[in-house]
Amino acid sequence: MKKAGEIRSEFLQFFRDRGHTIVKSSSLIPRDDPTLLFTNAGMVQFKRCFLGEEKRPYVRAASSQKCMRAGGKHNDLENVGYTARHHTFFEMLGNFSFGDYFKKEAIEFAWEFLVNYLKLPQDKLYATVHEGDAGMNLGPDDEARELWARYLPEDRILAFPTKDNFWAMGDTGPCGPCSEIIIDQGPEFGCGSADCKPGCDCDRYLELWNLVFMQFDRKPDGTLVPLPRPSIDTGMGLERIAAVVQGVPSNYDIDLFKPIMEKIEELSGHRYGADKTKDVSIKVIADHSRAAAFLVGDGVLPSNEGRGYVLRRVIRRALRHGRFLGLDRPFLHEVALAVMESMKDAYPELIENRRYITEVIKYEEERFNETLDFGLRLLNQEIERLKDTGQSTIPGELVFKLYDTYGFPTDIVTDMARSIGFSVDLEGYESLMKEQRERSRLHWKGSGEAAVEGVYKEIGREVATVEFVGYETLETEGRIL
Ligand code: ATP
Ligand code: MG
Ligand code: MG
Ligand code: MG
Repeated sequence: MKKAGEIRSEFLQFFRDRGHTIVKSSSLIPRDDPTLLFTNAGMVQFKRCFLGEEKRPYVRAASSQKCMRAGGKHNDLENVGYTARHHTFFEMLGNFSFGDYFKKEAIEFAWEFLVNYLKLPQDKLYATVHEGDAGMNLGPDDEARELWARYLPEDRILAFPTKDNFWAMGDTGPCGPCSEIIIDQGPEFGCGSADCKPGCDCDRYLELWNLVFMQFDRKPDGTLVPLPRPSIDTGMGLERIAAVVQGVPSNYDIDLFKPIMEKIEELSGHRYGADKTKDVSIKVIADHSRAAAFLVGDGVLPSNEGRGYVLRRVIRRALRHGRFLGLDRPFLHEVALAVMESMKDAYPELIENRRYITEVIKYEEERFNETLDFGLRLLNQEIERLKDTGQSTIPGELVFKLYDTYGFPTDIVTDMARSIGFSVDLEGYESLMKEQRERSRLHWKGSGEAAVEGVYKEIGREVATVEFVGYETLETEGRIL
């Protein structure tokens, strides 16, 4: 069996052999980009190169980038546990051309890597191309179609609309059509619907790799001006490609997850694969323990705002799923140790900060357990009352009270409702929240968070070398991970 770590290094080696400089993953906290919550793709650290604002000593690069997709534009938090292919934290393999090669080489490289190196079955692969867009005064991407036709029959080259197959950095600036490579995993992965086909939301037609052809500069009036030197940005999820290569049904079955899944089994006494509902919880915990370990390692602290709030949500969601498995004492920091073991070769800094990362997670666990005990008791009483009276909507007032008085997160209520087929009166909740915001504007006395952060920083001073904001190691050129 080919390990994910081997796929990671083969990918980088493949592109190194083709003139690419291997660039180390940047931090999950984007440098100099306050508009972005987290690094969510390989291209983020190269943004200024694509914009022509920064020159580097290379025009071809490849990386395996730590990514986080929770909160912000790409938010996969709610998918985790329910699809076989989504994580909050994952690694994105990517190759990049800054005004050097374009579509022809990008497509050739991708095909050669997947088919010749990883030996994926050619007859199961599809490629998508942009179908064009009258509103943008743009025709179909025939250039990409012709290039794909060298490898694939016509009926496996599919035209997709702008919403799926056109990428833009922002409202103006670099943009262009994309091609996605999809593999048909077979009907057993499908949703069973009669019109399940590539592009369907289920796991059958798995999107492996996205090739972005940065071809235009979009002007404020919407005109697309061809770039004199178009660029390439690609991204392929390491866990997805590893699942396909290893022939396992989901990302959670690959070798990188094995020690993590085993740790959760050992702590909870539940076997992964034995019960569908429990599997959701096991997967959520596995995913979120990776996210928590890497976020804390990159200098994020649990808080009620911004990045810290996402970290807090991730930890709390994992703890709640822990309760479903009967884990009501702090356990996530122990799972995080398994994460460090499984990822230490590629990310040795995790081990350097092992004590710090576990202490921060453990402290947050202890605080939240108290809240959770109390909130869940209240919520369960209410659910019983609703059941007795034949109702199935959790009132907004209760959701608000839980949040406002006890700090009990709203997404836990919605998650819990979803698992028992209840709905939540979010409108009622929102309007109470709005009133509350108005009130607190009038009576602001500070959030008290500063004191809490102090506790974490204390832990940090004792045991870690983590910097708290904007921490990023320099790129190490040519370094093979
Ligand atoms: P999907 O349609 O499956 O949600 P996407 O189109 O949002 O994926 P892209 O933004 O094109 O994803 O990212 C490039 C690649 O990164 C994807 O083709 C996939 O292999 C991988 N990827 C994207 N989101 C995730 C995720 N949440 N977890 C793991 N891998 C991901
Ligand atoms: Mg997505
Ligand atoms: Mg997609
Ligand atoms: Mg995509």
